[in-house]
Amino acid sequence: MATADQGRSEAFRLLPGVDEASRLDGIAALVDGPERELVLGLVRDVLEEWRGEVASGELEAEPLAQRLEGGALAGEVAARLAHERGRGLRTVVNATGVVLHTGLGRAPVHPEVAAAMERAAAGYCVLEVDRFTGERNERDAHLGSLLERLTGAEAGIAVNNNAGAVLLCLQTFASGRAAVVSRGELVEIGGSFRVPEIMARAGVSLREVGTTNRTRAADYERATEEGAGLLMKVHTSNYRVVGFTHEVDPAELAEIGRRTRTTTAFDLGSGLLEAPGAEPLDMLGPEPLVRDAVASGVDVVTFSGDKLLGGPQAGLLVGRAEAIDALRRNPIYRALRCDKVTLAGLEATLDLYLAGRADELPARRMLRATATTLEPAAARIAAAIGSHAGFEAEVAPGCSQPGSGSAPGVFLDTPIVRVRHGERSPDELAAALRAGDPPVFARIHEERLHLDPRTLLEGDEERLTAAFDRLASG
Ligand SMILES: *Cc1c(COP(=O)(O)O)cnc(C)c1O
Repeated sequence: MATADQGRSEAFRLLPGVDEASRLDGIAALVDGPERELVLGLVRDVLEEWRGEVASGELEAEPLAQRLEGGALAGEVAARLAHERGRGLRTVVNATGVVLHTGLGRAPVHPEVAAAMERAAAGYCVLEVDRFTGERNERDAHLGSLLERLTGAEAGIAVNNNAGAVLLCLQTFASGRAAVVSRGELVEIGGSFRVPEIMARAGVSLREVGTTNRTRAADYERATEEGAGLLMKVHTSNYRVVGFTHEVDPAELAEIGRRTRTTTAFDLGSGLLEAPGAEPLDMLGPEPLVRDAVASGVDVVTFSGDKLLGGPQAGLLVGRAEAIDALRRNPIYRALRCDKVTLAGLEATLDLYLAGRADELPARRMLRATATTLEPAAARIAAAIGSHAGFEAEVAPGCSQPGSGSAPGVFLDTPIVRVRHGERSPDELAAALRAGDPPVFARIHEERLHLDPRTLLEGDEERLTAAFDRLASG
């Protein structure tokens, strides 16, 4: 026991203080640089951790001395500094095959849309003035007209995201009152967006009707007898209730709303817009169109800008002019409104739809790609990776996913490049790819690294194979 304690105090004596450590080779230069405070903090963290290891008996004097002599402290600090510098938002190669990948920023916008967003960000722009009359106007007035043309709605506005759109809708029409929702539609949508919780925060009491699998018109109708502010339908975008089911269609709900003088809303989520002159996205199955939801007669339809629409992050609300006006007058709208960059991106995206160019939007293009059109890219990638010693790569049939809860249960046939390495596990390869520059995101399935060409953008194939060149040589 005594010797163990002696060993421990010897190890404690070996540990340098922060001042001493900051004069060490490899650390001194960093401490003198612009990131001084950050580096000192990292030195402190590493020493603290090592001290902990000593205290627990995990790290003894001998190996600690070796660590210090070998420059491990400087190495560890440099590694953490590189890690810290490598954090934050940066562009990545998405080889996961999940088209609207929430973790990777959902829809990539069209290059022309990105250019419009960049111009808006870098300069002044016509935002809340009418340049022909010089008078003030609404920042999303023009966007509203574009939405009207595309969806057949009387009016439209935009907020920061669809969760915000739903919140605004609930708060405007049902604050201090009840919102009626089917039990089968009380959904949680990734990232902790829960309809019941949003309702509670919006000061809305939730009146659930029906059962999980069956809700009828009479259920809604009865629920309005005690007075309700809003009848709401939610598209169950990330799961399906199958089997013995019944839901009330939006036209029926709109009819109940008119009869009982209750506002009606339909939260569509993914927001598939009709794209004039473009190929329909049939592969998504029965995904509701915004235009049809509007035509059903509900007062407000809400959907995201960065899911199937293929634009920047936003929440769009379209519907009857009177209802949209009420939303606009709610002071909460002011807190949820879009910035100039998003509005520029939305307008440019909708302009592409109206110009018959929706098929050029990256998300729509990726969704429509077939296994046959993707095959050559898969073969090239497999050949490039397989040419490196230790790597095996083959192309096999697999599935991509629309993602973001759009079109649940829909899988798109795709050629998957399945990669294996003689010594390195798929997890190790995936981690190395994520840590690279640019980071590459892949999937792991059945002890293989899976690369899906569907979600590669212009230039990504070269970035992907270059990442494997580096893996193979490093
Ligand atoms: C995705 C989704 C939301 C949330 O939209 P965000 O744009 O992510 O805020 C809300 N409702 C439904 C039905 C959705 O699918």
